[in-house]
Amino acid sequence: MLETLHRIVKEVSAAPDLHKALSLIVSLVKQAIRCDVCSVYLTDPDARAYVLAATDGLRQEAVGKVSLPLGRGLVGLVAERSEPLNLSDAPTHPRYLHVTETEEIHYHGFLGVPIIQNRKVLGVLVVRQEVEREFSDDEVTFLFTLGAQLAGAITAAQASGELDNGVVGRQRGARYLAGRPGSPGVSIGRGVVAFRLADLAAIPDRAVNDVDAEVAAFRAAVGAVEDDLRRLKSRLAAEIPAEDNALFDALLLMLGSDTLVTQTVALIEQGQWAPGALRQSIDAHAQVFESMEDVYLRERASDVRDLGRRILTHLQSDSPPTIDYPADTILVGEEVSAVQLAEVPADRLVGIVSADGSSSSHVAILARAMGVPAVMGATNLPAGRMEDRELVIDGYRGRVYISPAPSVRAEYERFAEEERELTAEAESLRGLPAESTDGVAFPLLLNTGLINETAQLGNDDFAGIGLYRTELPFMVRDRFPAESVQVMNYRRALEAFAPRPVILRTLDIGGDKPLPYFPIDEQNPFLGWRGVRVSLAHPEIFLTQVRAMLRAAVDLNNLQIMLPMISSVAEVDELKMLIKRAHDELLEEGYAVSMPHIGVMIEVPSAVYLVEELSRRVDFVSVGTNDLTQYLLAVDRNNARVAEIYDDLHPAVLRALEQVIRGARVFNRPVGVCGELAGNPMATVLLMGLGVDSLSMSAGSLMKVKWVVRSFSVSRARQLLHAALRMEDAQQVRRFMEGALDDMGLGGLFRPGR
Ligand code: PEP
Ligand code: MG
Repeated sequence: MLETLHRIVKEVSAAPDLHKALSLIVSLVKQAIRCDVCSVYLTDPDARAYVLAATDGLRQEAVGKVSLPLGRGLVGLVAERSEPLNLSDAPTHPRYLHVTETEEIHYHGFLGVPIIQNRKVLGVLVVRQEVEREFSDDEVTFLFTLGAQLAGAITAAQASGELDNGVVGRQRGARYLAGRPGSPGVSIGRGVVAFRLADLAAIPDRAVNDVDAEVAAFRAAVGAVEDDLRRLKSRLAAEIPAEDNALFDALLLMLGSDTLVTQTVALIEQGQWAPGALRQSIDAHAQVFESMEDVYLRERASDVRDLGRRILTHLQSDSPPTIDYPADTILVGEEVSAVQLAEVPADRLVGIVSADGSSSSHVAILARAMGVPAVMGATNLPAGRMEDRELVIDGYRGRVYISPAPSVRAEYERFAEEERELTAEAESLRGLPAESTDGVAFPLLLNTGLINETAQLGNDDFAGIGLYRTELPFMVRDRFPAESVQVMNYRRALEAFAPRPVILRTLDIGGDKPLPYFPIDEQNPFLGWRGVRVSLAHPEIFLTQVRAMLRAAVDLNNLQIMLPMISSVAEVDELKMLIKRAHDELLEEGYAVSMPHIGVMIEVPSAVYLVEELSRRVDFVSVGTNDLTQYLLAVDRNNARVAEIYDDLHPAVLRALEQVIRGARVFNRPVGVCGELAGNPMATVLLMGLGVDSLSMSAGSLMKVKWVVRSFSVSRARQLLHAALRMEDAQQVRRFMEGALDDMGLGGLFRPGR
């Protein structure tokens, strides 16, 4: 049964559209269970009904026409209860409904299972038997498991709009793909698919003009792979058994057999670019093998795919894809990376949609820094099929509309216009101080470093740099940057903002920021070798960086150094000693360096409890709410599946912040917040109420936060904070703060439009 299940899911996932996917499901299930009828009903919330979407056994003309009203019939009962229903004699059940449009005879055996995605019932999968039949436990679990696995494939096919001529097509346009808010704002634009090199499955379809050149490039890549294989074969001949080496013969044979090559060339000649044509023909070949009963032959499918990747690598290295980014590019991908983001010219990027990740992924942080709306964790995103599609994205609510209906488009055009007005209004606060209505100043600082945001700056609206992430120069190279290179980088930042303070954070690699040349292979990277843990294990990396920081600050004296991922006092003691050592060495070498202020990030729960001991040792503390939330709530900040429960407005986070401030006050140390919470207008009032000393955020949030600061008094902020601290969950806090901002006419800061 398990094997059949895998096969069905695999075939369905590969189906080009929903219609084909559903037809496949019903006929394969009917065969597997040996029943008389198998049907799928999909929930149509607008029509308040379950529509027959596919059937094997009932009249085909009824597909798309027959609908069972919500709350009635056995299908309705399965959906309402979200549970399987197994009846040997259905007509005796009080909820039995006889449908005549399908020319149904009275079926007796009935088994229905819900198809559920994210707690929503998408539809019901039903099998029926003419005579009485009690389906076995095995059959029930088979169908049940299938229902759970199909939900993803169904949502993906629905969302991609492939059902233009399909069953539920009439709702098309108003349907959106749900993800998580990544960066606020709304955008209308065209999809450009970001894909990883040599990732065949992620290659989008793309049209090509110069067919001959594309064919030539493809043939050259095939030739290069043949050479590689022959070389590999002779090199390994002495080392591995002949049977294993035979793999190379098999691969060479596949390449030489020409069907793969001719098919790909034919596809290119039809106008498809070489990587897209390759993906299609490799898929087709692999599927032939995958559908074979013989286990050995089935395994060959992975060889075909391997061959595909090899050819692709050559194709890409010979002609790196030059992409024509439209002026309204919405970058779409399975897992959009910071580097892919950086490849798009900033003036052409209007949005980002990523199937993976959450609002605290670094890509989302970058998007906010750039003021570009983003939707993260759109798990059912059919990324490969989004190329050149018109998209509307709503970064407030985490929605993506694919090929939107005119009414949706018009609504979002209005939102976008209102947003421009709102931004203009916020911009009018430039030059005004960030202080509450009762005159208390809240210094606003900038987070920078991931990209070169300095271009958009050059105003007096921020009091300095509260977090300079130093990882980027380390990430874009093929080795650790030399001390002199680092000096130049840091000097540029320190000089640009002097005399304002610039807090340089020491290297925070590991977690979701691995270095290509320093692989850290771990099961749980966020609980592993990360931040100062790497620095302590490799003092040479840390010392080089600190030396560069100190040298860069000579004569400027606006440097402060911040240590990430601190979880114990011993780490601080040791790192301080290293900083002192770098300082003394430089003095000896004749550099006029001075000792900077040193601070720690509070982003691990243990640091919250140790805040007094830590404060005693340093000059300032800064709360990294992104990681603190991740570790307090035990929710991976990049995992789309749990993104819904990652919430930095959680009362536990607020209470931890309160404790941090209380602890740091014992030694009179200033407390800043530099996680994304600091740039969230919904949290500003709470942070004012807590009495934090500074807020450090992305450039894109600055004016909005200033607007909030200037709209509330500290006494009002304290009242709101005290109420929020008593709340039990993040949703409650969120609704409460939305109300507070709405009362001040600031609703446009957290929802589309005004
Ligand atoms: C944080 O964790 O809140 C933080 C500011 O650091 P990063 O997002 O770079 O991990
Ligand atoms: Mg962090």
